[in-house]
This record gives sequence, structure tokens and C-alpha cells, in this order.
Amino acid sequence: MKDNPKMAQADKASARTFAVPAGESPADAVRRQDPAFLKGVIAARLGGKPVDLYWPLGQGGEVELIVLESEAGQEILRHSTAHVMADAVQQLFPSAKVTIGPSIEKGFYYDFDYSPGFTPEDLPRIEEKMQEIVESDARFEREEVSREQALKLFAGMGENYKVELIQELPEGETISLYRHGGFVDLCRGPHLPGTGWIKAFKLTSVAGAYWRGSERNPMLQRIYGTAWPKPAQLKAYLTRLEEAKKRDHRKLGRELDLFSVHEEIGPGLVVYHPKLGLVRALLEEFEKKEHLKRGYHIVYGPTLLKSELWQQSGHYDHYKQNMYFTTVDEEEYGIKPMNCLAHMLIYKSQVRSYRDLPLRYFELGTVHRHEKSGVLSGLFRVRAFTQDDAHILCTPEQLEGEVVGVLHFVLEVMKVFGFEVELEISTRPADSIGTDQDWARATRALIQALDHQGMPYQICAGEGAFYGPKIDIKLKDALDRRWQCATIQCDFTMPERFDLTYVGADGARHRPVMIHRVVLGSMERFLGVLIEHFAGAFPVWLAPVQARLLPITDRQHDFCRGVAKRLRAAGMRVEEDFRNEKLNYKIREAETQKIPFMLVVGDREIQEDGVSPRTRGGEDWKLMKVDAFIARVKDECRIPETEVSL
Ligand SMILES: [Zn+2]
Ligand SMILES: [Zn+2]
Repeated sequence: MKDNPKMAQADKASARTFAVPAGESPADAVRRQDPAFLKGVIAARLGGKPVDLYWPLGQGGEVELIVLESEAGQEILRHSTAHVMADAVQQLFPSAKVTIGPSIEKGFYYDFDYSPGFTPEDLPRIEEKMQEIVESDARFEREEVSREQALKLFAGMGENYKVELIQELPEGETISLYRHGGFVDLCRGPHLPGTGWIKAFKLTSVAGAYWRGSERNPMLQRIYGTAWPKPAQLKAYLTRLEEAKKRDHRKLGRELDLFSVHEEIGPGLVVYHPKLGLVRALLEEFEKKEHLKRGYHIVYGPTLLKSELWQQSGHYDHYKQNMYFTTVDEEEYGIKPMNCLAHMLIYKSQVRSYRDLPLRYFELGTVHRHEKSGVLSGLFRVRAFTQDDAHILCTPEQLEGEVVGVLHFVLEVMKVFGFEVELEISTRPADSIGTDQDWARATRALIQALDHQGMPYQICAGEGAFYGPKIDIKLKDALDRRWQCATIQCDFTMPERFDLTYVGADGARHRPVMIHRVVLGSMERFLGVLIEHFAGAFPVWLAPVQARLLPITDRQHDFCRGVAKRLRAAGMRVEEDFRNEKLNYKIREAETQKIPFMLVVGDREIQEDGVSPRTRGGEDWKLMKVDAFIARVKDECRIPETEVSL
């Protein structure tokens, strides 16, 4: 992930290196050479590894400085805050035993063994105690001890989890302790110079967690928190967190009657209610049209395929634990976790010439994958989902052009939803198949395609799939979160395993290259992202109900029925609210349902053959003719179209 510009600046300021002689601390060495450089500095980096600012280096060497604002600085801040929290917890709950307390993205946690367990009401008390420790500005003091000393210390304190950790450390490893005030913890470090550096923190939640993540171990109490260099940053983060909670697609899914998941059906299996069913149908219609415009063929493969075929593809060896199997007429079948195989059999159903290529097969294919029940969540992590999947078979010479086409396609589609994107290319991993030449050619094609697009990208060395390099496209949502949706993946092995060929201009048989690609990815996941990105207020063209007619009294019901008919004839999705309720109540309700247009109708509107539209954004358009309203919103209500690069 990219740093924000401020952080980048802080990192630059710390880019100067300082020579630190053996036996001297980085702080002392910098103070001697140029004390101005110590401003905002909380630690140092020696040979890429963070070290304490005030602990003498045994060997000496060139160090860089770590400022609090940098990413590394914030990690140290968060982990140090975890120490302070553990201290506060033990002061308030002396029977709580400490285990581990790492920093995590944008925060930290600490796991305690404590019964009866913490409640959310305990958190403000713990925060208060932490604040006292912060104000005492206690120094984090490092101390190196022998294994025996460490064991004796923690055994004496009754900290049996720490004892277990020490016993597992390899013989001869330096064991370091960190003290601040009266608190001591076994830790590798480094830490802030003192607790006074902690200016903005908050404890966010309590949860259960097994010791070392194993169900066979005791259940511990995990307290989560977050810490930031500045109070304003903390505030902004908490606001984002609050906003994310409000937009949680599981919550909105209930409130807007979009989807459900049932114990009776099974976990991770989504049921679409009419409104989300409609949204999905509209997305699929949009996608089919866009694919046809780009020369794709729409195909469908079966859900069950004989296990023999999964053996041939390699899924049986590499992916079996994620697949479901069933037996039909004493023969084993696998339920497809991917759509590739049927597409290859379509390719193979005829002799192909170079003149037929590229061939682009598109399938809205529903796949099943066995995800662990613990990771399942709403629409984001499910066991059955539909991909907007396609496989392109082309000659090696066509590869780059095809990748450019897909990239352009993805960017155009993301524009329709207003998403900005970030691009990443993942190259050959250590464990991979295929020749050096194949990898070099495919990687070059992907890089050239990206350069052709003129957009910045990151290279993730060694993170490609074992069968080929790939481009991942991450979209940025309204809360600045990144979501992996589209991918473009090169594959040399499937054409090999299935012996796909084409007759070249030379009359000889050649191997085509295969591209696996998705644009939205999984429909379920993309819909979840859309719900959260728009906070349930889908763009007008996707809104399940686009307009609701709100008569002021029942005198206007007949007229409203007539208007509804006209709007429907113009292609809009309309509802009438004829309930005997006050107008304000009806408007409020239509707003919570995120309906784009509320059309108020009273006697004056009937006289004028008009409606008084209000938008969900709170705009009042005043009385206008029904035909004028239709003319104004018609385009917005239609499924949009993207530009095709020619
Ligand atoms: Zn620590
Ligand atoms: Zn595929």
C-alpha cells in the first residue's frame, strides 16, 4: 500500500544514515553528529532491522532513523501501546495473565488469560489507567538476560504463558526484557523511547481468542486498540470505523431487505431477496452486453464434471481440499471451483487455425469452494459465488494486445461505478512450472500492457501463481479501503495439460496461450463492496426501485396509478405508497430505503399533469410536467455503456 505524502516526506527525512560505533546507542551517535536530526525520531534501523534508539549497538554500523510518523514508526508506536495496555490491565485486574501483544494494521491487541473475562464497560477504565502511564512518561528500558534468569523471573510472577514462550526459544538466543514503570514484558523490541510518545490511542473491542489460535488451547481475552501519532489522525480513523459500521453490508442487507444467509441452508450460501436479485440481474445484463461488444462469446459449463477431468487439470492434486465431490452412477464427480475446464473442451471441440484466434469465452459461472466456516462473512467470504469469468485463447504474439484489451475493459467498467483503481503485477514464484522463456515472455507482455496503459503499478516479485504471472486490479472504495476484484492471469500449463493446439500459418501445430480473467470478480463480493461503497444508495440505474409516488391524500391515487404506468412504459422501476400515513413519514421512509426519486402528488400536480420530485440527496425539483421529469431522468435510469477501445 502507498504511504500518504506526509509519511513519504517523513521517510525521506529519515533517509540519511549515521555511523554508530560499537558500544554506542544510535541516539548518542546522532546527537554527536547532528542533533537536529533527532526530532520526531523514535527508533533506528540497522541492516533493515528496527532497533531501539537508546540501546548501545554491540557491533556498530550505519543506521537510518525511524520517525514516529513513518509506517515503521507507527508500528512501534502501536506495539508499545500494547505494552502500556497490558500494564494497565494488570494494575486493574491483578489476576490477568499476559501472553502476547503484537501490532496489527492500524492498531494492536493483547491477549490475556482472565476469567470472568472483560466487558466493553471495562475499556474506559483501562484507557484511564493507560493515560496515567502515558503521562508518567516512563522510559522503555531494555534488558538482556539469560534463559534461566528469564524463566525464573516469569515463573516467579506466575506468568506461565511467558514461561512456555521462553522454553521454546532456541538455545543461545538473546532474551530481551522491556520494562516501563513497574511493568516487565518478554519482548524482542524495539519500543518507543518512553510512554510519553503515545499521544492518541483508543481501545476498540474485546473478543475471545484461543492461545496460539488452536481450539485445543484455553480461550483467552483479546483487547483490541488503535494508536496514532496525532489526535487528529485517531479521530479521522475512528470516524472511518464508525462510517464502516454504518455501511456494513450485512446490516444494510437486513435493513434494505437485500439478502439473507440461513442456518437451515448452510453457512456461506447466500439467498438473494427480490431487490438484490434485481441488482444482480441488471449487473449481469450490463456485463453480457459489454462482453459481446468486445468480441466475447457467452458460454455455460456444467456444475458437475467427472473427477478424471479434475485429475487432468491438476485440481485434484493441488486444490482437492477446497472442492466438493459427489458420486453419480458409481462414478465420482467434482463440483466446479473454477470455470476453465468446460471452456477448454469447447476450444478442443474443433480444429483451430491461427485465423480463429483469439477466442474469448465468457461465462457467468457459479462455483463452489470449501472455505473454512470461521472466515465466512456476509457476501464477502462465501462458499458459492458467481464469477464474471472469461478465458481467452490466443497466439503468443496476441498476448499483449489481449491483455491491453482486458485492462482497458476493466478500467472502463470501474469508471461506471466511480471506482479508482491500483494495479499490481505479480511475477514468478520460487515454486512454479513452465519454461524460463514462457515466464519471461508472459511477464514482459503484462508489463508492456501496463506501460501501454500509462498507469502506475507495483511489482510484487515472486507472488504470481505457480502456473503464470498475473495482474491484480484493486479498487478503492468511498472509505479508502482496497478491494481485490479484477485479475488477469496468464497460464501456460492448462493448454499443455489439455493438449490445446492451433494450426499456424506455417501449417504446423502450435500451443495457444490462455488468459483467465475476471472483471468484477465474484458477483457476491462485488455486490457487497457496492452496498458498502454507496452505503446502500445504489446508482440510479441499479436502484431496485427508482421512483416512489407519494400522494398527499387518496384523491390522487388514480392519477398516481396513471403516472406509474407512464414511468414504467419509459423503462423506470416505480412503486406507489398508498398507505394512510402523513406525507413526511412516507418521505422519511423512502429516504431510508434510499429510493432515488420521491414524487409527491397533490391536487395541483393533477391540474398540471405533473409531479413534485425530491431526490434522496435532499434536492427539491419543484412541480414539473410528468413528461419533463421522464425526459430529465431517463438516461440516468438506463443501464450505462462503456467505451470500447478500437
Ligand atoms: Zn514489546
Ligand atoms: Zn480459469
